[in-house]
Amino acid sequence: MKIGVLALQGAVTEHIVSIEKTGAEGVPIKRVEQLEEVDGLIIPGGESTTIGKLMRKYGFIEAIRDFSNQGKPIFGTCAGMIVLAKRIAGGEPGHLELMDITVARNAFGRQRESFECDLEVKGIDEPVRAVFIRAPLINEVGPGVDVLTVYNDEIVTAREGNLLVSSFHPELTDDFRLHQYFADMVEATKQVQQQNRI
Ligand code: GLN
Repeated sequence: MKIGVLALQGAVTEHIVSIEKTGAEGVPIKRVEQLEEVDGLIIPGGESTTIGKLMRKYGFIEAIRDFSNQGKPIFGTCAGMIVLAKRIAGGEPGHLELMDITVARNAFGRQRESFECDLEVKGIDEPVRAVFIRAPLINEVGPGVDVLTVYNDEIVTAREGNLLVSSFHPELTDDFRLHQYFADMVEATKQVQQQNRI
């Protein structure tokens, strides 16, 4: 099983390392054609305006929408969550506009630009170590969205079908259980798609 990491900007190598801990192969994705080789895609943290601009420039907006429409799983972390959201608070236009959530950028305030904590994630047994860096949070979710983590009354992890998002950076710790959760989503989708082909 191969999982791609969009490699336009941001924390790419760390995600590849975490993916490989799950036993899947991690592939940095720099060109749209490479999406055909992978079963799932991670959109990393970084700066969402920059990632959005580069996605437009290299044709990734349509290509990733197609990828998602095929039911293939996508995991957006931090800036990756912002680019997946249908709505960005404050009226800034969205990027991929795939997931039925509204996100607020840099939502934790200056005094808490970055911090770490342990969080309960629905579907994972023990708390997960989470690193927040100028993190966004989810203000609003549509009816099809499953909230996986609430931290101080704010939603920071959620899933809608094939789409998974986290406000924090799961790739910056040794704890790869959120990557395992995503790899399990990718594996399950792959199996269903293979059965449908038989
Ligand atoms: N603050 C960044 C943005 O709005 C996201 C930060 C991150 O990915 N660590 O795009």
